[in-house]
Amino acid sequence: MEFLLFFNYLVFVVLHQIQHINFTALSILFIINTVVLVLFFLKKNNQYESSLKKNNPNQTVVSSKSYSSEDIENQLINEIEDYILFINSFNVISAANKAAKSYYGDIIGKNLSSFLRAPDLLDKIEKCKNERKNEYLEFEINLPTYSFFRLTIVPLSQKNVLIVIKDYTDVKKSEQLRSDFVANVSHELKTPLVSIKGFLETISNSAKDDPKAQEKFIKIMQEQANKMEILILDLMSLSRIEMQEHIQPDGKVNMKEIIDSIQNIPNKTLNKKNIKINSNIEDHLPLVRGNYEKLSEVVQNIYDNAIKYTKEKTTISITLKKNNTKLLNGAVSLSIKDEGIGIAKDEIHRVTERFYRTSNAKKNLIQGTGLGLAIVKHIVNQHRGELEINSRLNEGSEFIIHLPIYETSS
Ligand code: ADP
Repeated sequence: MEFLLFFNYLVFVVLHQIQHINFTALSILFIINTVVLVLFFLKKNNQYESSLKKNNPNQTVVSSKSYSSEDIENQLINEIEDYILFINSFNVISAANKAAKSYYGDIIGKNLSSFLRAPDLLDKIEKCKNERKNEYLEFEINLPTYSFFRLTIVPLSQKNVLIVIKDYTDVKKSEQLRSDFVANVSHELKTPLVSIKGFLETISNSAKDDPKAQEKFIKIMQEQANKMEILILDLMSLSRIEMQEHIQPDGKVNMKEIIDSIQNIPNKTLNKKNIKINSNIEDHLPLVRGNYEKLSEVVQNIYDNAIKYTKEKTTISITLKKNNTKLLNGAVSLSIKDEGIGIAKDEIHRVTERFYRTSNAKKNLIQGTGLGLAIVKHIVNQHRGELEINSRLNEGSEFIIHLPIYETSS
């Protein structure tokens, strides 16, 4: 633009040298020309900025030439992930940053209470305005999903306030998980411990001279101690696997070997319940990518559950095959299917949660820690595999694990 203005000026000077051209007419022509040029460029610049805005409506457009400190501040505020609202003296939203607009929608000009219902909010705003100091508020909502927010209300001039809303939902959820976990562990360990202490007291007092009663109580104490040991081992296994979940094991594992070795271990419950095992293992199966011990732990857990939750004189079917479905091509799939108590449809998705035990398992007084399938899920995830559960209440369950083949995933 500067160049064109300069060119315009040059034309004026040259024409001025030519004597017979009227100077006044020439000056008017020069001024008109300059004004037209300036207007033309201003218009062009406006069009450019509005086209930028159209392509990216949330972005504050800052001219490449003039970054005012206000523009920079605007842009900084828009980059902040917390929701920032500017509230005027009538509690109406005058401005909001990008994060607030994308979370709450079109809120400019709306009254705060029309979309933000937090107990004590209006009182806190009034207090902030009157006492001219920051006020703080925490609140949670349960619908459509659980969310937890922390709010800071900052006083501004002329009874305006700034509200900064921080989303603490994830922090709150993990706090809740941790405290539930501690409560569950304490409960699960306390129950057998209380029982052991009770029997110890009985043995040393009332049953002091009764060897038969002593023998019976010692057996119960041993069972309780075993229960505690299993729980502690499961907990240790779970925390180990959780720490390593992001590292995919890199060994070559023959799943058939795992199944054979598990079936070779004598199982008292299997014989007691008179359960038949029906194995169907495909020949020449590829190796899977993984860790032998961890995959053995997975298969052992699912196999033990099948025996534990199945009825007497039934069959457990074990199938190992290469998966040729389009979706899971490149996987070896192991299915362990029982004819046991089954799982209700609305509980299937919960059985891999830590400490979750189905109402059917509890009703049938079948003992367990509720940690086995949580371990299974984490190990399968670590192997970048998939766990599939199909079940019908009182008819039986099928647990399938799909594991990536070594060759294709390398
Ligand atoms: P547990 O130690 O209680 O067996 P798991 O984590 O292995 O813990 O399993 C979680 C719950 O899933 C069990 O308590 C049981 O309710 C249910 N479950 C697991 N496997 C089966 C199965 N084969 N049949 C029916 N229910 C099962």
